[in-house]
Amino acid sequence: MQRVFVIDKNKKPLMPCHPARARELLHKGKAAVYRTFPFTIILKEREGGDTQPIAFKVDPGSKATGMALVADFKRGKRVIWAGELTHRGQQIRDALLSRRQLRRSRRARHTRYRQARFDNRRRPEGWLPPSLQSRVENIWTWACRLNRACPIASISQELVKFDTQLMANAEIRGVEYQQGELAGYEIREYLLEKWGRKCAYCGAKYLPLQIEHINPKLRGGSNRVSNLTLACHDCNQKKGTQTAAEFGFPEIQKQAKLPLKDAAAVNATRWALYHRLETIGLPLEVGTGGRTKFNRTTQGYAKTH
Ligand SMILES: [Zn+2]
Repeated sequence: MQRVFVIDKNKKPLMPCHPARARELLHKGKAAVYRTFPFTIILKEREGGDTQPIAFKVDPGSKATGMALVADFKRGKRVIWAGELTHRGQQIRDALLSRRQLRRSRRARHTRYRQARFDNRRRPEGWLPPSLQSRVENIWTWACRLNRACPIASISQELVKFDTQLMANAEIRGVEYQQGELAGYEIREYLLEKWGRKCAYCGAKYLPLQIEHINPKLRGGSNRVSNLTLACHDCNQKKGTQTAAEFGFPEIQKQAKLPLKDAAAVNATRWALYHRLETIGLPLEVGTGGRTKFNRTTQGYAKTH
């Protein structure tokens, strides 16, 4: 249930309320709509009120970032608001590419002389490509926006989803990483990110996915991460001992050799995002999805969100 954000008459954030309660307040004229997105109401009379600590959780991914607000009620923790931020990385890249091409063709037309101005600049420290910088800025904007709308007490960021360095090593040697204690946990996180959390063959989402070998093991395919993909049970069965190309997916066969672009995007921005979120001034904690899942499984807890 998405709760409605509430601020008092001095614009101080209060505990988000149930939509039914918000409707009642609006209907009785005790509150007014302050903002429509995210939906926030402002109380006309009241000042202050009891609040419980709310944690803002961020899970940065390559294409989208998950955000959730978790309130610590007396009855236990509960997600009171959740959202997904779709990143514009590729769009920004395309727009800059087209601008570059337009400028290049204009320069090359020689209708007038204009000195080249693109190669005399130095990049400041901590510079990120615009497509990646936008991810940091967008998440930060939302953190600030939510911080104004509800009493956030802490922020937690999923920091180390996977480590490209380790993943690359795994692709070369792979003993420690693939047969060690963590085998299967962080690799799975990495594959979910790389393959967009869906079956690589039929595109089915929200069902159990199995790790699948692009070149089947029976035919000499290895356990290297680049040879792995995710498939639903049915596709995995149907594919059997065929390679992805034989199964009718030459583009997946090609993917087997693609670099770790998505993982790199997450890795390159995670510290920048961390330092950016630090500037908000709330306690900031970090965790790793892979390890959390590992702990949860070994301790026998079910996933709560
Ligand atoms: Zn499938």
